[in-house]
Amino acid sequence: MTACVRVERDGNIAVVVIDNPPINAGSVEVRRGLVAAIDEVNAQPEVFGIVIMGAGNTFIAGSDLHEFGQPIAEPSLPAVISAIETCEKPVVAALHGAALGGGFELALGCDARVALSGTVLGLPEVTLGIIPGAGGTQRLPRLTGIPEAISLVCSGERVRADAARMLGMVDIVVTDDLRGAAVACARKMEGRKARIRDRAVPACDDGAIEKASAAALRAGKNRPAVRAAIDAIVSSATHSFDDALASERAAFQALRVSREARALRHQFFAERDAAKHPAAETATARPLQRVAVIGAGTMGAGIAIAALEAGFDVVLLEQDEAALVRGVDRIRSHYQGRVDAGKMDTSVAREREGRLKASVDWTLVAGADLVIEAVFEDLKVKQEVFRRLDSIARPGAILASNTSYTDLDAIAASTSRPQDVIGLHFFSPAHVMRLLEIVRGAATSQDVLATGLQLAKRLRKQPVVSANAFGFIGNRIYAAYRRQCEFMLEEGASPQQIDAALEAFGFAMGPFAVADLSGLDIAWRMRQSLASTREPQARYVHIPDRLCEAGRLGRKTGAGYYLYDQTGGARRPDPEVDRVIDAARLEKGIAARVMNDEEIVRRSLLAMANEAALLLAEGIARQASDIDVVLVNGYGFPKWEGGPMFWARERGVEALEEDLDWLAGLSGPGFVRGDIRQLFSAEQRT
Ligand code: NAD
Repeated sequence: MTACVRVERDGNIAVVVIDNPPINAGSVEVRRGLVAAIDEVNAQPEVFGIVIMGAGNTFIAGSDLHEFGQPIAEPSLPAVISAIETCEKPVVAALHGAALGGGFELALGCDARVALSGTVLGLPEVTLGIIPGAGGTQRLPRLTGIPEAISLVCSGERVRADAARMLGMVDIVVTDDLRGAAVACARKMEGRKARIRDRAVPACDDGAIEKASAAALRAGKNRPAVRAAIDAIVSSATHSFDDALASERAAFQALRVSREARALRHQFFAERDAAKHPAAETATARPLQRVAVIGAGTMGAGIAIAALEAGFDVVLLEQDEAALVRGVDRIRSHYQGRVDAGKMDTSVAREREGRLKASVDWTLVAGADLVIEAVFEDLKVKQEVFRRLDSIARPGAILASNTSYTDLDAIAASTSRPQDVIGLHFFSPAHVMRLLEIVRGAATSQDVLATGLQLAKRLRKQPVVSANAFGFIGNRIYAAYRRQCEFMLEEGASPQQIDAALEAFGFAMGPFAVADLSGLDIAWRMRQSLASTREPQARYVHIPDRLCEAGRLGRKTGAGYYLYDQTGGARRPDPEVDRVIDAARLEKGIAARVMNDEEIVRRSLLAMANEAALLLAEGIARQASDIDVVLVNGYGFPKWEGGPMFWARERGVEALEEDLDWLAGLSGPGFVRGDIRQLFSAEQRT
């Protein structure tokens, strides 16, 4: 045995306790300890049965992901499960907290499963680009049937104990005394084994399997892990258990070292790191319960919904009644939509709406622990709002701005308490998008930063801390990317070719489709306001301005880079746009050239990597991996590609240097080259 596993006794039942805080991860020490414990008690004739359980808050909540990047040390998880299955005594898994991934596979290797109500169970491997590699794809279908197993494994869904009981994933659910119930279960088995491997896979018709597979492939974007998982599960019915098990393991071994799995593991660790910040580590977050949102427009309404969902009491404030009514209508119709779609009970929707108070009476700000401003993007308007908030908010209340571009320090300077001011940059729609950029102003105190990070957790958002700078992390990288795409437009590619190439790479939407969706006038106004600061010799693409001048502001006007029959309708190429582009090329004497998709993707990624190097050098982003988290969670960058920093690191420093020479030449005057080598420095984890 090891320090992580001990054996206790409950009469004639041996209780094997896994004690590997904080999550009882299935590390090699745990696996070694389990094999030793099973061997030891198997040899004790007085032992009648065995219970395996976790100490602390959970069963095995998952595997040690670091291990997946290297050769896996023996004993492997399949070896542990084999020891359990070949052990002569019945083994009962007692589950609480989480039994996920390898943890649930271990439980499936046991002869029975008893779970405490509220336990979450599941096989999330596919979300990490791999498949369950210790029999999960073989044992689960023997309990749930093949179609259900396909849906569970391919989505990586986490199922609560009660639902898991209905699906057959656990045998008994108890509300207390898990250990007592598991010991009783082991005793009741009277020394008889009940291995899942010995059961037949429930019969079902091919149609059901095809339907489940098609749905899983669609939802999983046909990714290799999804395909492999389906193959493995289906073979549970067509091959012997041992053959299918061996094929599953081989597929797992091949996938775990694939680029995709490495990229997804990278994102996993990057997201975990981004949620921490050294400056917040020693600070105590301020308690939050009441939130005031100022401005009930697109963002304010979304932020209010996000706060209601997280259990906060919300006060929504506006400058006039009409705007307030529009905002409240937005929130009501959101909840009505959820109810109509059968996704929320009416009583739950009413409870949420019951915690919302909408008013034009700003004295209500006095009751708030946190105020989030989401008014027009105008420094003067924001400063006026913050001056007013400063005079009403209670001492210690946090004053946050959802600004996208305004200087947070200039906003904070309009208050007497800049230490309490922070940026909370939500993304649209604010109740859906996971990313929350937390902007740390020059004076923002450490406990306010800690509160921001904790708030993100409560809102179930992914935080990334940015320094105060124009566009913070995300919009600044996105602007460099979009600029490069405009260069390519000018050089010969069409909007539809660029969008299609980047969507084929995996972006949720190409940059021109995104521009049409958010409205071309936003960037137009921005360009106009920055016109005086632009380097006169820098390359400037006039095409977007020409489209705006022609009244083509995107979807909302039925035309932008594309034509639309209706706001939600499909995009169609428009010959008029080609004429605008041709005229712009002619004006500059550019002869259009054929560009291949590989160039489009490479230049886009290089532009991001270059801007990232600048952001890191300026100290706006703390670490390269934060940039990946921002792009994946806020800008539709394909998660399975790991983010632009992961891509850059994979390419290698020499190739990147050459690439950047090439990009600089193509981009023309005004291209600012970043020092890409810092992406490769030891402290830049990717
Ligand atoms: P919006 O125009 O939809 O809403 C702004 C609301 O603020 C309006 O309802 C307006 O009546 C109200 N308002 C204006 N001045 C006010 C004042 N003095 N007091 C009270 N209310 C006032 O704008 P939006 O898209 O919701 O953007 C709001 C903020 O969020 C901006 O700073 C914007 O940059 C930022 N933001 C927007 C997005 C986006 O995609 N729309 C994304 C991230 C951040």
